[in-house]
Amino acid sequence: MFRIGKEESDAIAEVISRGQLFRHGDSACGHLGLVDKFEKEFAEKIGVNHALLNSGGGTSSLICALVGLGIGPGDEVIVPAYTFMATAVAVLAVGAIPVLAEIDDTLGIDPCDIEKKIGPNTKAVIPVHMLGIPSDMGSICSIAGKHRLKVVEDACQAAGGSFKDKRLGAWGDAGAFSFNAFKIISCGEGGALVSDDAALFERALIYHDSGITFRPLAKELTLPIFAGQQMRSTEIMGAIMRVQLQRLDGILSDLRRIKKKIMSELSDAQGIKFIRSNDLEGDCGVAVAFQFDSEKKARSFEKAPGVNGWLPIDSGRHVYCNWEPVMNKQIGAHQALNPYLLPQNQGLRMDYTKDMCPRSLDILSHAVIVNLNPDWTDTETNNLIAAFRAAGKEL
Ligand SMILES: *Cc1c(COP(=O)(O)O)cnc(C)c1O
Repeated sequence: MFRIGKEESDAIAEVISRGQLFRHGDSACGHLGLVDKFEKEFAEKIGVNHALLNSGGGTSSLICALVGLGIGPGDEVIVPAYTFMATAVAVLAVGAIPVLAEIDDTLGIDPCDIEKKIGPNTKAVIPVHMLGIPSDMGSICSIAGKHRLKVVEDACQAAGGSFKDKRLGAWGDAGAFSFNAFKIISCGEGGALVSDDAALFERALIYHDSGITFRPLAKELTLPIFAGQQMRSTEIMGAIMRVQLQRLDGILSDLRRIKKKIMSELSDAQGIKFIRSNDLEGDCGVAVAFQFDSEKKARSFEKAPGVNGWLPIDSGRHVYCNWEPVMNKQIGAHQALNPYLLPQNQGLRMDYTKDMCPRSLDILSHAVIVNLNPDWTDTETNNLIAAFRAAGKEL
């Protein structure tokens, strides 16, 4: 999906020729290098006060957010049935227990089901903007406010997207982005945490750098330093991501133009219905999503000539029933650290079954996704539209 080229090569070459690879290494610029510049620019783009680039990825960004919120053993966190397993694993990584909620016909978490799943130990909810499609952040935040839940947005697939003109990642207490090689902008691996909450951010910063005491910024910390992990990013990542961020608006506008053209030209097409959207303007446009009234129709549409589609039910570890290590409670390197076995978690809701979210399974097996490419020519887009039209007629 991401675009990459000479600008990134030049930026990397400059880092290497200066010989400064460590983000805090250069005293000549007050130990503030390219990673710091990227963090400022990314925070500004999302519309929040703080951003933290890390080498661990979207998963680590989610973990940092949960650490920042002080979530741990004894806490439940609601996650949707349709997301990459990493969302649930991040909850387990801090010792808390993920509780599953259904998605609705937008493919995002169902706000009504969040409300139904809230229990006495629920501390947070993680809406996930799958395929760059915005979740209903208005309803989610109002439910969270009513029940005093924290909100962490998993925006790993949705860099630059928005809901009602506010960027995804900026609605929640924190947002998590991934810059791995399957995402909208990328430096191969890595991710970013964003937040307006200074205390959350400070805890995340401490957690992400096991050597935080050595940093010049350590003297500005207001919270006690605890021992964290090592997820610091390199100046090469910072250099690439600064260029990638420059490309983001162009990628999104091309994707959105292609998606809008497909949807408007097929608005009356026989047999074709698009998935309901919470905000089409804010959708990243990485994919077009169709909805059918049976799995049989979805399967024949998916396989029709030129369509190149896929059913989300077939996307392996993105569907909760395929999260085998979670479903089987095989978590952590040592059994004594397995959150499912911790005494503080006994009594929390962890009876998972493969059919516990039947509505999600139904929606995911009646939908067809077609990935879009921002570099398609008009001819390529028109050919795809013709293939969709023909496939719809056949149903
Ligand atoms: C990619 C992704 C992640 C994990 O990101 P990594 O950078 O691979 O850790 C988490 N959640 C969702 C929805 C993702 O798509």
